[in-house]
Amino acid sequence: MDTKQQTYLLTLNIRRYDPETKHSWVQVYQIEAGRIQRFVDLFKIINKEKDPTLAWNSSCEHGQCGTCSVKVNGKPLLACELLVQNAVADFNTTTFSIEPLDISPVVRDLIIDVEKAYERLDAVKPYIIEPKPLNRNNKAHSISPKRLDQYINATRCINCFCCASACISSHRNFLGPNAMLAAIIRMMDPRETNKKDRKKMIYSEQGVYRCHTSRACSFVCPKEIDVAHFIALAKAGHFQDNNK
Ligand code: SF4
Ligand code: SF4
Repeated sequence: MDTKQQTYLLTLNIRRYDPETKHSWVQVYQIEAGRIQRFVDLFKIINKEKDPTLAWNSSCEHGQCGTCSVKVNGKPLLACELLVQNAVADFNTTTFSIEPLDISPVVRDLIIDVEKAYERLDAVKPYIIEPKPLNRNNKAHSISPKRLDQYINATRCINCFCCASACISSHRNFLGPNAMLAAIIRMMDPRETNKKDRKKMIYSEQGVYRCHTSRACSFVCPKEIDVAHFIALAKAGHFQDNNK
């Protein structure tokens, strides 16, 4: 790659979908872009200069909300984090195929039905079911330093669903890596008293035993969470005790 190059002529093959006609097709856009423009910037350029009908999603555009997840040349990622120069270097091409994540029905173009995607996450109850009360002698919930490190690492998850899209588990009942991570987080949480229900879910036929430990999920996680490792620890029974 010519590192002095300031702009690139890119070919973007974008998967479109029109919900009115139910027609799906690939639309080709040629676009000149600067090195440090992000893929969300490319979508904005298309909307402004070429095609206002292209639909896509974003919100924070700082890699914190997970709204702009798409697949670029087959890899699920955040469009707000992908710089043109990195995409060209990593994929070794200036031609990119861009598709919506394949975890939920498409609403239009690159936008998927997020509510539907969240159904799998909601199934593990990713919140505290029965909070542990504090008493006079016990002014704070306690957690071991090792478990706290794991907890902080896991709670960096932004629910972008990239791992779910990359998951190679073919079992249709598997709730997916991010749902497993959300359940594991609450297993580690010293504020939670109800581990029973969640344990049932983690070790159910929708749970961790459907994972093949391929690590595809860890490979794509934009927060660099080793999701597969957490799932492997859960398989080995590590999170059953609150404070290990
Ligand atoms: S390690 Fe498990 S959860 Fe992660 S991609 Fe592979 S099968 Fe899916
Ligand atoms: S674990 Fe990583 S890839 Fe999966 S939803 Fe959370 S942030 Fe996204």
